[in-house]
Amino acid sequence: MTDTAVAPSGAASADVPGFGHFIAGECVESVSGETFESRNPADTRDVVGRFQQGTAADVAMAVRAAELAAPRWRSTPAPKRGEILYRFGALMAEHKERLARAMTREMGKVLAEARGDVQEAIDIAFLMAGEGRRMFGDTTPSELPDKWAMSVRQPIGVAGIITPWNFPMAIPCWKMMPALVAGNTVVFKPASDTPHCAVLLVELMVEAGFPPGTVNLVTGRGEDVGDAIVDSPDVSVLSFTGSSATGKGIAERAARRLKRLSLELGGKNAAVVLADADLELAADGIVWSAFATTGQRCTACSRVVVDRRVADELLARLESRTRRLRLGSGLDETVDVGPLINARAAERVEGYVDIGRSEGELVLGGHRAGEGDLSNGHFFRPTIFRDVAPLDRIAQEEIFGPLLSVIPVDGYEAAVTAVNQVRYGLSAAIFTRDVNAAFRAMRDFETGIVYVNAGTTGAETHLPFGGWKETGNGHREAGRAALDTYTEWKSIYVDFSGRVQRAQIDNQSAG
Ligand code: NAD
Repeated sequence: MTDTAVAPSGAASADVPGFGHFIAGECVESVSGETFESRNPADTRDVVGRFQQGTAADVAMAVRAAELAAPRWRSTPAPKRGEILYRFGALMAEHKERLARAMTREMGKVLAEARGDVQEAIDIAFLMAGEGRRMFGDTTPSELPDKWAMSVRQPIGVAGIITPWNFPMAIPCWKMMPALVAGNTVVFKPASDTPHCAVLLVELMVEAGFPPGTVNLVTGRGEDVGDAIVDSPDVSVLSFTGSSATGKGIAERAARRLKRLSLELGGKNAAVVLADADLELAADGIVWSAFATTGQRCTACSRVVVDRRVADELLARLESRTRRLRLGSGLDETVDVGPLINARAAERVEGYVDIGRSEGELVLGGHRAGEGDLSNGHFFRPTIFRDVAPLDRIAQEEIFGPLLSVIPVDGYEAAVTAVNQVRYGLSAAIFTRDVNAAFRAMRDFETGIVYVNAGTTGAETHLPFGGWKETGNGHREAGRAALDTYTEWKSIYVDFSGRVQRAQIDNQSAG
C-alpha cells in the first residue's frame, strides 16, 4: 500500500495523499465512494491524508477475505507464523523514527512517547513471535491406565479488532499479534482519528510477509464499520479497546451471537501518597502519569489520594512541576505536553472544569491554550483541582484529559476506600516507605495493575494488562494471558489400552 495507491475521485488533492482499505492483499476504495480526512491535532490546517469512509459492504468483503485466508494460515506451523511476526517487529524497529513522527503528527503525543508507543508494538511482536514456539498446553496424567491426556490451543477464526486513537500502534499490535500467531485471521478497524498510523502498520505487515487476506484493514466510523464487524456472523472473536459506553453496546450485540469478546475500557486511576512518602518522588511520578499524553492514557493518573498531613507539601510540588510543563507540537523535542486529540475532547475537558469549580478549588490551568502557535491546535493547560471529595464527579468520571484531582484523606484505610470507590479498576499506585503498607495496597487495590513508588502508567508487554470492574470483562491483553482471547482450548484423550475404559465409572471400581 503506498501513499497514492488509492486516490478516490475528487477526494485526494495533489498535496493530500489518499489511502485505501486493505482487503485480500489489495488497496481498494469504499463502496460508499466517500472519504474522510485525518488532521494534525497540533495544527488542524495540516491534513495528514484522506481515508475511506467504510461501510457494512466493505466489512463483508474484508471478512470474506479473512475467511478465505484462514485455512492456509491456520495450517501454517505456528513457529513459521511466528517468524513473520518477528520480521514485522524487525521492520518496525528499522522504521521506528518514521513511524513515531507520523504518529506524533496524526495523534499529537510528543515524540519521546510516540517512540515508546512504537516500541511497545515492537515488543509485543517479538513476544508473540516467541509464542509461535511455545503456546503451551498441558500434558497431564489420565485417571485411567494406558491413557494419555493433553490440552492444546487452537485458533478461533476471524478476529475483529477495534481500536482507539490514544495508542495507535501499540494497541492494534497488542491485539493483532496474539490473534495472528495463534492462527486467526484479522479484520482491523482503527479509530477515525488515527487511520494513517493503521495504514503504516499494515504496510509493514505486508512487507513482513503476512499472506493476502490474513490482515484486512477497513477504515471508517464506529457506527458503520465497527457495528458491521461486531454483527458479522463470520467474525468469531472480537477485541475492543475504547470507552466503557461503546464497550457496553458492543457487549450487548456480541452476546446475541455468544461471541468471544475482550473489552479494555475506561479508567479512573489513583495514586495514593501516604504521610511517610518521598514527596519529591511522588510529585515526579504523579505529574508524569497525569499529564504525559495530555492525560489521554487509559492508565493516566487522574486522582491523587493524599494523607491530609502532607497534602499542602505535595500540592506545592505538583504545582511547581506542572507550571514548568511546556505545551506545543510534539514534533518539537523540547515540548512536554501535546494537544488533545480533537475539538470534542477539548470541550469535554472544559465541561469537567466547570463541574470541578463547584466541587473543589481550581489551583492551576482550567482553560484552553490558544496563544501564538497553539491557536491552531486543541491545546489545554494542565489542570489541578484541590480539596476534591472522593465521590465528586471529577473524582468519579473518566475525563481523559489533563485534569488532576487532589483528594485529601485521613490515613491508609480511608485512602484504600477512596481508591476503590469508583466504577473502574485499571491501575493504581502507592507512594510510601512503609513496606507493610505497600504490601497491603498490593492486596487491597481493586485494580488490574498496581505500582509501588511509581506513577500509574508504564505497563510492560510480557505481563497481563487490563482492569477490574467496568474497565473490562475479565480478559487481558499482553503477556501469555493474551492468547486466551484468541484461542479455543481442546482437551484430547488418547486411549492405548485396546479396550473400552469407561471414564469416571471404571476408575471408581478399578482394582
Ligand atoms: P471510543 O469508544 O469512542 O472508540 C474506540 C473505537 O471504537 C474506535 O475505533 C471507534 O470508531 C469504535 N466505535 C465507536 N462506536 C462503535 C460502535 N458502535 N461499534 C463498534 N465500534 C465502535 O473510544 P476512544 O475515544 O477512541 O478511546 C478512548 C477510550 O478508550 C477511553 O475511555 C480510554 O479509557 C479507553 N482506553 C482503554 C484502554 C484499556 O486498555 N483499558 C486503553 C486505551 C484506551
